[in-house]
Amino acid sequence: MPKLTGQCLCGGVSFSADGDVAFQANCHCTDCRQTTGATFATLLFMQKSDVEVSGEVKSFSHTVDSGNVLTKHFCPNCGSQVFGTGAKRPEMISLRAGCINEQEHVKPQINIFSGSKMNCTVMDPDLPAPERMPG
Ligand SMILES: [Zn+2]
Ligand SMILES: [Zn+2]
Repeated sequence: MPKLTGQCLCGGVSFSADGDVAFQANCHCTDCRQTTGATFATLLFMQKSDVEVSGEVKSFSHTVDSGNVLTKHFCPNCGSQVFGTGAKRPEMISLRAGCINEQEHVKPQINIFSGSKMNCTVMDPDLPAPERMPG
């Protein structure tokens, strides 16, 4: 049994993941807000080799301030963004938490880019909230 499973809105793209989640973050950066259409994105970072994706995805790459090139992968039919990758750490993948079925495994540990969060977004005061990406 895979630990995590998920799918896009139409079901054309799905994933199953087995392995440790390295890092979970709510990201409030403008890119995540625009790409998800939500007020922030919750991302689960894992080893790419632990995740199996089925279905055809379309991808969009963009360069961020740090110089890293990030790629969003989404369903070409319904437009749901299912996961992301980055050129700096090509061995990692970040699953979009909203697509995940096993909600009990979704526990963000940090709010990143809190400096660009929307005014209406309420953050858990018990979590660290750096203004930018730490490290
Ligand atoms: Zn879809
Ligand atoms: Zn972000």
